[in-house]
Amino acid sequence: MRPQIDNNLSEIKKSWISLAELTAKRSNCVRRSVGAVLIKDGEVLAEGWNGVSDDYPNCRVAGCPRCIGGGDTGSGYENCICIHAEQRAIAEAARNGTATNDSAIYVNLRPCLQCLAICKAAGVREVYYSGEEWEYPAEVEKIYHVLSDQFAIFSRIESPAGLIVGWIPNASPIGRER
Ligand SMILES: [Zn+2]
Ligand SMILES: [Zn+2]
Repeated sequence: MRPQIDNNLSEIKKSWISLAELTAKRSNCVRRSVGAVLIKDGEVLAEGWNGVSDDYPNCRVAGCPRCIGGGDTGSGYENCICIHAEQRAIAEAARNGTATNDSAIYVNLRPCLQCLAICKAAGVREVYYSGEEWEYPAEVEKIYHVLSDQFAIFSRIESPAGLIVGWIPNASPIGRER
């Protein structure tokens, strides 16, 4: 079953997904720009973006085999040195000694299977994502749903980016610049 689009999103949830979309601008992955924020009790615990360390301008320069060679969404991660936005957010929280239990994560892309598993292990309770839908092959998708059903909330929400940049004519969509 597909997650329902929540049309009655609170303003605060819209602002968190907007923050995730802004955080995606810090990505240094050449394939796509993803941002994630971990939220608890109305506060940002950590932010994450996908890519390699700040020591490199982007993942191509860092030599990422997957990103240089293209590759399909949801596969080939064993050849990828870019960590995902969700992973960086959780790692950032760990570095700072911030507990992630009972938190919510907002991401501007449907999380991959591994990130969902890591979120689950980190005690994340609610997952919200924006962006285009994508799916694994049916048999993997089945497992994905077993996992996603374990969160108290797993919900796709419409990007509220228009609320921020809608007044700028021809504004390029957030997160697609690299
Ligand atoms: Zn990359
Ligand atoms: Zn992921």
